[in-house]
Amino acid sequence: MKVNLRRIVGWRFGSARLIHLVGFLLSCAFLPSATARPCGSLGVAVQVLGSGGPELQDKRASSSYLVWEDGQARALVDAGGGSALRFGESGAQMSQLDVLLFTHFHVDHSADFSALIKSSWFEDRNRPLPIYGPEGNDFMPSTTEFVSDFFGDKRGAYRYLSELLVPGENGSYKMQPHDVAGSASPIGVFHSGDLAVSSVRVIHGQVPALAWRIEVGSKRIVFSGDTNGEGGGLTQLATNADLFIAHNAVPEGAIGIERSLHMPPSVIGQIAGDAHVKHLVLSHLMLRTLGKENQTQSEIEKRFSGPMEFANDLDCFSVR
Ligand SMILES: [Zn+2]
Repeated sequence: MKVNLRRIVGWRFGSARLIHLVGFLLSCAFLPSATARPCGSLGVAVQVLGSGGPELQDKRASSSYLVWEDGQARALVDAGGGSALRFGESGAQMSQLDVLLFTHFHVDHSADFSALIKSSWFEDRNRPLPIYGPEGNDFMPSTTEFVSDFFGDKRGAYRYLSELLVPGENGSYKMQPHDVAGSASPIGVFHSGDLAVSSVRVIHGQVPALAWRIEVGSKRIVFSGDTNGEGGGLTQLATNADLFIAHNAVPEGAIGIERSLHMPPSVIGQIAGDAHVKHLVLSHLMLRTLGKENQTQSEIEKRFSGPMEFANDLDCFSVR
C-alpha cells in the first residue's frame, strides 16, 4: 500500500500538532533520495508515472504506468506527456524494459514515446524492445505506423534515429512494433520469463483502443486505458485482478461526447465489483473529476467494497 499524504493531512489535528506534522512531512520531502526506497525493489509493484489526462493545469503528467519486479522495470504502459521526466525520476532504465504497451494513440497516452526512445540511445540496451498497441483505422495510425511515423528511415520525423527501427542497419538495439487485433475476450499477446501480457478491445469512441493485463508470476495487474466501459471484455480481463487501474476521466452524470468516450464512477465500480478485483486505483484524473473525489468514491462504493485510492504521479502500489 502507498503512503497517502493527502489522507494523513486530512485528519483533524489541533493547529500546533498540525504545524509539527507539516514540518515533519516537509523534512521528509527533502531527505536525500538515496534514503528513499525505490518502487518495486522487492516483489511486484506498479508506479504511476502519469496520473493526469491531457490538461496541463492539473499539474500531473499524462497517462503512463511502470510495472516493477525486484528492482527491475519490466513493462511500461502508455507514455503520455510528462511521463518521460517521471520515468527518469522513478530511477528506471529503458534498458530494463521487457515490453512497451500502448492502450491507444491519443496525445495524452503517447506524446513522450520519442523522448523515451531517444534517452534509451544512451543506455546499454542490447536486446530488441517489443512494442504492442492497437491496429489503426481512418482516424488513428496502427502501432507499426505510429512507430515508423517517428523513426522510419524515409519519412519518419526522427529518421536520423532510424537505425533503432529499420532492419539491416547497425543500432544498439531494435524496436519491434506489433499491431494487436483487439478481441472481445482476453487473448495472450506477449510473454517473457514470468511476465505474461493479455489484452481486450475496449470502446473509446472511434479510436482503436486496448485494455491490458500484465501478469508477473501470480500477480495480476489490469489497466483499463480510456474506455466508456461498454461490453464485457474489460470485466473478463480484470477478473480477480490484484490491482485494477481505472481511468476516472469523467464525473458521475457526464453526458454527450465525454460519456461516449469515458466511464463514469458507477461503471468503474460495477466493473471492479463484477470482476472481484482486490484493489482499485483511480487515475487519468482531470479538472472535471478532481475535487469530486467524495462523490466518485460513494458511487463506486455502491458497487465495489474493496480498497480504492486516487493516484498521484510517482505513487507506488505494491501488488500483494
Ligand atoms: Zn486519455
